Amino acid sequence: MLKRITLLLVCLVLLAGFVPQGGAAGKYNAEFIPEAGGLRYAFSVPDREFVCLSYSTRNESGMLTLQSPDGSFSGFLPLIYTQAEGKVSLKVLTPAQKRIFETKVTYKPSKAPAAPSPQKGAVRKVSDLALTPGVRQMGWQFTAPGHRALTLQFSSVMQKGSFTIVPDEAGVFSGVLQVPNASARDLITITIKSLKGSQMARQAERTLFVPPELPETAAEGPLSGVVVCIDPGHQQAPVERKGGEQLMPGSSKIVYSKGGSAQGKITLRRESIAALEISYLLCIELRKMGAQVVMTRLNEETGLTNYQRADIAEQAGAHYMLRIHLNMSKRLDADAQYVYIPDKSPYAALAADRQTYWQYAEALLRGMMEETGVKTGMVRRGDQFVGNNWAKMPVFLIETGFMSAPANDILLAHPVYQQRVALGLAKGVIGMEEIKRGLEH
Ligand SMILES: [Zn+2]
Repeated sequence: MLKRITLLLVCLVLLAGFVPQGGAAGKYNAEFIPEAGGLRYAFSVPDREFVCLSYSTRNESGMLTLQSPDGSFSGFLPLIYTQAEGKVSLKVLTPAQKRIFETKVTYKPSKAPAAPSPQKGAVRKVSDLALTPGVRQMGWQFTAPGHRALTLQFSSVMQKGSFTIVPDEAGVFSGVLQVPNASARDLITITIKSLKGSQMARQAERTLFVPPELPETAAEGPLSGVVVCIDPGHQQAPVERKGGEQLMPGSSKIVYSKGGSAQGKITLRRESIAALEISYLLCIELRKMGAQVVMTRLNEETGLTNYQRADIAEQAGAHYMLRIHLNMSKRLDADAQYVYIPDKSPYAALAADRQTYWQYAEALLRGMMEETGVKTGMVRRGDQFVGNNWAKMPVFLIETGFMSAPANDILLAHPVYQQRVALGLAKGVIGMEEIKRGLEH
């Protein structure tokens, strides 16, 4: 076995000798130029709109998603936490995490702070570490008597790092950790270590979600007079569901929701936050088109039962209810969108006749598929969703993509792609209105 590995290594070394430096990267016109605080990059990957750029140095690593309409990507990769000269390993990947090319460049950071050794009797533990969440950042503060330098290590799903920190004149260690690759509500774990590497404190907090500002409903537009209820699926808060929920009006079947929700395969994001982000963008699109919009929840802290969701839509006098979800599957290449409508619910029968209901769902699905370019989509009728069964207006549970598939997960976390989902659904609402007007004539 060892012999075989040795042989393999020899082969690899020989092979590496024959490949010209940066040869693979050369095909993509890749340039990574060291500057103060990071690398300026430029490369082109024809026929790709989204790619992932992964990087690592001795001090930090991370991955960010880049978007470009024409396959030429350029920008600045900050290396905030790299404190020693060394190689930066760079990989450009497809959203499905397949390697396109990789390269290495030497990076020399500005001078690292000196790390003086601790005084005699220095404390072994930090007892007052306090974290203050922000948007893609985390404030931190603590004291550690006797220490004149320590190591701060942080990790989130998309970005990790460690660096030397020093206290101010009063002996307080504090700062604001920038985590530009983190998404909203990302868990950031901070560990304080002595310079020798022993752990002195560890704590984790989620970054903040600050929603975009919602505009007023436009005075005129194709959706003037239309009321839409958007229901962002799930939530982070626990929900009281004592006694379960009746499957549908008149049914003796009681459903105990397990609250099962999808999670990003790469980003590890929760379905509830992705659904919330898309819902905000959808609300903005619909209001720009003149619709009145109500949302069942505006944050992650609001816990709602399915009854309550349906009730909010009814109280608002909604003409349509759009329930935003993200799907999961065992297939890593899953890439499809679904719109679920109720089947046997007596309320559904009153909301629209079966054929019209189906056409509405098709209009929504078509809008979403056209804007996002997803090739597979399906309308499905079923009784499994309590929130669908209790809605008194046409209601649609929309699976916008598969969080469990790497490529879908990366796209559904990107604001450009989220915006397409939102715009597609808003166009779908226009489509539903056209169907409705056709019926009324
Ligand atoms: Zn869901």
